[in-house]
Amino acid sequence: MKSLFVTMEKDPRETRVALIPSGAQKLSAAGWEVNVESGAGVKSGFSDADYQAAGAKIVGREAVKEADFVVAVRKPDISEVPNFKKGSFHLSLLDPFNEKALIKAFADCGVSAASFEMIPRSTIAQKMDVLSSQSNLAGYCAVIKAVGIINRIAPMMMTPAGTISPLKFFVIGVGVAGLQAIATAKRLGARVEAFDTRPVVEEQVKSLGAKFVKIDLGDTGQTAQGYAKALTPEQLELQRKGMAKVCAQSDVVITTAKLFGRKAPRLLNADMVAGMKPGSVIVDMAVEGGGNVEGSIPDQVAITPNGVSIIGDTCLEASVPATASQMFSSNVCNFIEHFMRDGNFVVDREDPIMKSALVAANGEILDDRFKM
Ligand code: NAD
Repeated sequence: MKSLFVTMEKDPRETRVALIPSGAQKLSAAGWEVNVESGAGVKSGFSDADYQAAGAKIVGREAVKEADFVVAVRKPDISEVPNFKKGSFHLSLLDPFNEKALIKAFADCGVSAASFEMIPRSTIAQKMDVLSSQSNLAGYCAVIKAVGIINRIAPMMMTPAGTISPLKFFVIGVGVAGLQAIATAKRLGARVEAFDTRPVVEEQVKSLGAKFVKIDLGDTGQTAQGYAKALTPEQLELQRKGMAKVCAQSDVVITTAKLFGRKAPRLLNADMVAGMKPGSVIVDMAVEGGGNVEGSIPDQVAITPNGVSIIGDTCLEASVPATASQMFSSNVCNFIEHFMRDGNFVVDREDPIMKSALVAANGEILDDRFKM
């Protein structure tokens, strides 16, 4: 396999590109013919000339028909799949739980498709884990966005004009994004509290200098992949009761709680939001998956009658596209490098990473969960 095609993202909200010029240079040096759709890098700060200088060719969208390997940030439109070369390989964020028709189209067209979401959470796969690299940035951006619209400063200041108390943050869900949100808020001088249903997180929260909020929910735990298990309705009610007071006392609440492949849990109901101070800010990082917060709206800042702003940004990392694309590109290169055998990219189905990430191959859908 030798020719790689980097597509321009079609979603108007998307600012990232899957491969940046330094990645193109690396793959060219490894023997790939790198073709980049004209304009693909512009929104993240990389011109066609930058790619050309890195050894890539600038091409039109029709070049997808000739490519052995197509890489993108987001899934392609289903209508485009028949244009892909039979026997080619596609890699992007395919959202396979919600895109069963698309996965079927890949199988029907004889295209092998791998989903970034399905890359396993193992130490060896960490360097190609797009969910982690992008969540990390999203956690940072959540804090920056909240601080950008709140009417107060983050750090404590002792001045002749009086003492200013620090902002109080409450981070709910302390995975990759939550940990970065805590670290960023601490760097800005805020006071931070956090909660997660996975008890293992308490030590990590404390190590960042934040306070772990204790709420006894009984048996919670995590899956073998490190994801949180879904709570029962009774446990969720207990959790909301335990968190209501902390939310009411916080200036900024950031919710990051997702349940892989399922709808996000509802953590803040309208009463809890109504109990918060006017001027306070909520960032619902799970808004795309159904929302942790009642009243959050995808890609809008909703303002409640009591003056609480709810930020519902569905792709926070897209607001730092140069950094986000740099990390994405590095994940892509690491994935490709992992499967190079004697100078060729090999779809090694015995490899645990490929086994997990590959969702369609040889005309088949490989996971029953993605069958229509
Ligand atoms: P995620 O995006 O699925 O969820 C975010 C957080 O929300 C998680 O910490 C989860 O426990 C929490 N959550 C779920 N329901 C909740 C509820 N009702 N209330 C409060 N919190 C709730 O998770 P993530 O950020 O992708 O990572 C989860 C874990 O996996 C972390 O420990 C992370 O370090 C680990 N991880 C490992 C690897 C690897 O080894 N390659 C890669 C990525 C993540």
